[in-house]
Amino acid sequence: VLRVDPDRMRADFDALAAIGRTGAGGVSRPTFGDAHLAARAWFLERAAAAGLETRIDSAGNHSAVLRSTRADAATLVLGSHLDSVPDGGRFDGALGVVAALEALRTAKDARLGLPVGLEAIDFTDEEGTLVGLLGSEALAGALRLEALARPRGGRDALLAGLARAGLVEERIADARREPGSLAGYLELHIEQGPVLERERVDVGVVTGIVGSRSFRLEFIGVAQHAGTTPMGVRRDAGLGAAAFIIAARALALRDHPDCVVTVGSVTLEPGAFNVVPGRARLALEFRSPDAARLAALEGELLELAGHEAEAYGLDLEIVLVGRWEPAPLDPTVRAAIGRAAQELGLSTLELASGAGHDAQALAGVTRAGMIFVPSTGGVSHQPAEHTEWSDCVNGANVLLGAALELAR
Ligand SMILES: [Zn+2]
Repeated sequence: VLRVDPDRMRADFDALAAIGRTGAGGVSRPTFGDAHLAARAWFLERAAAAGLETRIDSAGNHSAVLRSTRADAATLVLGSHLDSVPDGGRFDGALGVVAALEALRTAKDARLGLPVGLEAIDFTDEEGTLVGLLGSEALAGALRLEALARPRGGRDALLAGLARAGLVEERIADARREPGSLAGYLELHIEQGPVLERERVDVGVVTGIVGSRSFRLEFIGVAQHAGTTPMGVRRDAGLGAAAFIIAARALALRDHPDCVVTVGSVTLEPGAFNVVPGRARLALEFRSPDAARLAALEGELLELAGHEAEAYGLDLEIVLVGRWEPAPLDPTVRAAIGRAAQELGLSTLELASGAGHDAQALAGVTRAGMIFVPSTGGVSHQPAEHTEWSDCVNGANVLLGAALELAR
């Protein structure tokens, strides 16, 4: 079995972790900031030093390429992202890019003469500093104009960032690849949750990436004097909101065991000690790996909100903010990952990803799969994020083994 060079990969990982390093041991590399651009330049330098071709597409995706001996060959893409959340950890995304680069170097050194090309890619703005999944959706031809017109990071920040990176908004969609030019997609990533560690399993084979919905709910009552309005005649919007939050949790726990429901923001208006709240605005998000269950949960949660509004004498307004469908990952790729792990004597567990990843964009246009390695304490998106180095190497070897099987 061909294996990666763990020392060479470690040197790369450490060099990368020094770019945008924070005092607490994490990294801060928001999209198109100085540290992010420096990390991407470093990646292409390392690829060139290994004798790999390099390219940057019109969505800013950075790639190292190991060409096939066949001129018309399709490309098997291995990747992740080098951007991070502000004050994030050094493993999220970075591990997948470093391991992809190492897999290409190992394949090149072994002179395998593969019938497909291999590409290690660093996708633009996975974390959503500006848009979220910007590079991978552009490559998949799935980037919506709406996402650029109303980016979550703000329109001004998007335009300033694109200018800093030397990119042109009108050309981003040109990064789309013909599905026929792709032989598949593989991504190694840290789990960012506690399951693999708890189950003492080496490697996670990801079955799919959850879909999610977000809504703004507004409970509307009457703002009144908090001293002179008796309890029995109030229309307190805060009570409807509070009752909904508690009931939504109970509903998920009772009827939807694979789903998560979160109210991440609550605002009461007018917002004073001495005024009964007239309005309560909630940010509601929920996720499921299953499309039918996600749709069912949506219906039940919105009905529940209506029920609680009625119980407290309130009106209710519901605004849809976003819908993302679950992305099941390809069975042949999952099987290849399982076999690669088995050949290395590693234990595996199938699990769904509760976090979004570039693989969900690729899954729409090519066979796609993801490999997870354990996250210590399930901690992620903060400097304490950690994965044992032996687990990182295991993940890279599974990535290499699965890639070679899919490439042949
Ligand atoms: Zn990530």
